[in-house]
Amino acid sequence: MSRKDVHSYARPLEVVVRHLDLELMVDFNAKQLRGTATLQIDNLKKAEQLHLDSRDLKIDSILLDDGSIAKFDLMPAVPFLGSELIVHIKPNTKKVKITYATSPSASALQWLSPEQTAGGKHPFLFTQSQAILARTWLPLQDSPGIRFTYTAKVTCPPGLMALMSAENDTALHPHGIYTSNMPQAIPSYLMALSVGDLRFHAYDKRSGIFAEPITLDKAVYEFVDLPKMVVAAEELYGPYAWGRYDVLVLPPSFPFGGMENPRITFATPTIIAGDRSLVALIAHELAHSWSGNLVTNATWNDFWLNEGFTVYFESRIMEKLYGKDFEDMATVLSAGELKKTVAEMGPDNPDSHLYLNLEGRDPDDGMSDIAYEKGRFFLLNIEMAVGRERWDNFLKQYFAEHAFQSITTEEFLDYLEKNLIQGDGKLRNTKIRENIWVYGPGLPDNFPKVHSVELEKVDAVVKTFQEGKKVENPKGWTTHHWVYFLRALPDSLPLDKMKSLDEQFKFTESGNSEILCQWLELSIRSKYLDADTSLEKFLTSVGRRKFLKPLYSALAETAEGKKKAQAIYAKARPGYHSVSTGTIDEMLR
Ligand SMILES: [Zn+2]
Repeated sequence: MSRKDVHSYARPLEVVVRHLDLELMVDFNAKQLRGTATLQIDNLKKAEQLHLDSRDLKIDSILLDDGSIAKFDLMPAVPFLGSELIVHIKPNTKKVKITYATSPSASALQWLSPEQTAGGKHPFLFTQSQAILARTWLPLQDSPGIRFTYTAKVTCPPGLMALMSAENDTALHPHGIYTSNMPQAIPSYLMALSVGDLRFHAYDKRSGIFAEPITLDKAVYEFVDLPKMVVAAEELYGPYAWGRYDVLVLPPSFPFGGMENPRITFATPTIIAGDRSLVALIAHELAHSWSGNLVTNATWNDFWLNEGFTVYFESRIMEKLYGKDFEDMATVLSAGELKKTVAEMGPDNPDSHLYLNLEGRDPDDGMSDIAYEKGRFFLLNIEMAVGRERWDNFLKQYFAEHAFQSITTEEFLDYLEKNLIQGDGKLRNTKIRENIWVYGPGLPDNFPKVHSVELEKVDAVVKTFQEGKKVENPKGWTTHHWVYFLRALPDSLPLDKMKSLDEQFKFTESGNSEILCQWLELSIRSKYLDADTSLEKFLTSVGRRKFLKPLYSALAETAEGKKKAQAIYAKARPGYHSVSTGTIDEMLR
């Protein structure tokens, strides 16, 4: 095990990139970014080659800081890793200026036509660089173990706003020229750009919302607890290190729930439910400001260090803000989903280890419930073993001592041993058992016992329903109650039961994406055709992979359903990001 990143051609022990100056022109007609990336390098070994990552980039020319034109070799492309770019430098080279252009099919970039936005009038561009897609819009050392600072000058069509994962101006610039500065060093997967018809609303001096004008008011209402969340997070694990914390609400085709781009979380609009019930996602992305952005997984095999810590931290923020009963529901729901995932993976699947082996594979394959939820329950297990106070002190110290660094799984376990376990064999071997959790499959038998008072009430309602009795309209149910209720029902129901549930609770018309998705999945399996229009509308307007995957997969279970899925997909596919089409293409082949 090592820091060697099998998903990057970079050789940071020879030459390492410290800073990037970017100048880009955004061309919506050609679906292309054109410009220059100037890399400031530290040539540690007086090397004569700089090895960079690139994928589908057109490299025009490369200049060295002494004014000479550099020779370069763009190697043949390898699936998902792209083309190694070897720049011939000199032992004293400090800067390398690369003139380049992106491909219209660059995987990180999603170019939306006006019709694909909420406002419908202007085109929109956003990037998604994680895990190894930054190299499709920038030539760089694309490895999470390498950090650099950057500046950017972006020129876009007048009237649109350009934002980066950096210090941004919050005002619209009439000529479409924007400059950004990122003074803190970040890994490449946190490089981010978005361009669109955007406006800003400030909550306070530190936080606000960027969104399309038509979405802004709804988003501002939904995420009003943002400033409180930042304060709650700081109270838990120390000062927020990135200056501002803003949220950019993207059009619905964004493939993820959120992306923790530093200073500016990119978020899906599918969490705008009108009742502030899905804001846990914002707590999650905010938590990444510590776990992930500040202390970063050294390679994608260590991905659980980013996500497991973040889900744990998210849960603590939510508990602080909304109480233990509320957060217990989320914890029980997650445990249920995780157990399902593990059962599907099978008992000895190495992908159910926390520490992964993704050599020769797309790191996107590692983005399962394991990193997120098994990771979180491992940490919860430690909390329960040593008590919350001791665990919180440990975490605070962990974040402080590793700030702006990357860390491997092995280094974390060493740190845990030295600073928490401290040679206590009983604690290690009977309570924490970290080696079984990290290097073993499935869920260890010291998996934390979780329960929720609120969800036990739902169990009673489900029982009533299953006995064929009339269910009363429940009072005060949150999204968690409803999702749990729908998941507790059988995989499919007779049509008369579907109809009566729908008449009583109006699931087909639900504006809450979590509840609707759960209902649509049940509708597909129950062959409840009354939900078909809603299903097609949902699949053609939303690009979030979390929702697309279960719905297309349920459709694909029958020949007839698969046909329906293919017909919908033909219409919907142009509106999805490559991260989502990569998953669905395979499913419907
Ligand atoms: Zn995350």
